[in-house]
Amino acid sequence: MGINHSFSPVSVAASTLGLFVIAMFEEQRFYSEKKNEQKIKLLEKESERDDLTGLLNYRALSQEINRLANNSEIHNIVIGALDIDHFKNINDTYGHFVGNEVLNYFSTVFREQIHSAFPKHGYVYRFGGEEFTIVVSNHSLEEVYQLLQSIEKFFNNKSIITKEGMKLTISFSCSLTDRLNDELLDTTLKRADKMLYGVKNNGRGWIVTDQHHQRPQKPSLERKINNNY
Ligand code: GH3
Ligand code: MG
Ligand code: MG
Repeated sequence: MGINHSFSPVSVAASTLGLFVIAMFEEQRFYSEKKNEQKIKLLEKESERDDLTGLLNYRALSQEINRLANNSEIHNIVIGALDIDHFKNINDTYGHFVGNEVLNYFSTVFREQIHSAFPKHGYVYRFGGEEFTIVVSNHSLEEVYQLLQSIEKFFNNKSIITKEGMKLTISFSCSLTDRLNDELLDTTLKRADKMLYGVKNNGRGWIVTDQHHQRPQKPSLERKINNNY
């Protein structure tokens, strides 16, 4: 008895159809898996953004720190810690919504300035509340300092006009420090934070760096800012 190798046209058509249906399902599965992957990526990205300001959040900062630490193309990293001065006064005087507006405006200015000065190398994160972290790689501390000084001047000279027409001025305190050799970036962040306390305890409204330790002579600044309330 031999095997019958003759196929009827009906069985050929049926198997072709079967293969076609399998291919269709496979294609659909492939696209729906791709779509799911895209959705997951989008959710991951969204979870790295701060809802109020649209800035990258603390979670994103932790991720970036890991990425930078393992990137051989990065040869130096400047970390900045930044805190808006007397922010509680703004909430207490004008209310929480105006406080939010100020946070938003401040974040927008900072993000635009850092991104345009250091494209792909400069990032601003909302660390929490009215506190921010700046991470700039492959640029010198002096370059970052100069940009921060120009932003400082901008806020000193320009009042913020709120939606309801209120006019207020803000200042910020800031520290900038270079990552030393191969130290953990957490260590750099902690140093920046400690340096920031130095500014807070010494008049506020100025920028301390590894090279600039002294408060610049601006005796009227704190009075000018407090006069707005
Ligand atoms: P300092 O100059 O010492 O930094 O004083 P400060 O008032 O800025 O700091 P403090 O830590 O005393 O107060 C921070 C305030 O920021 C208190 C908190 O209610 C407010 N804050 C934190 N997050 C938000 C927010 O998302 N929106 C608003 N409107 N306020 C916030
Ligand atoms: Mg503050
Ligand atoms: Mg604070």
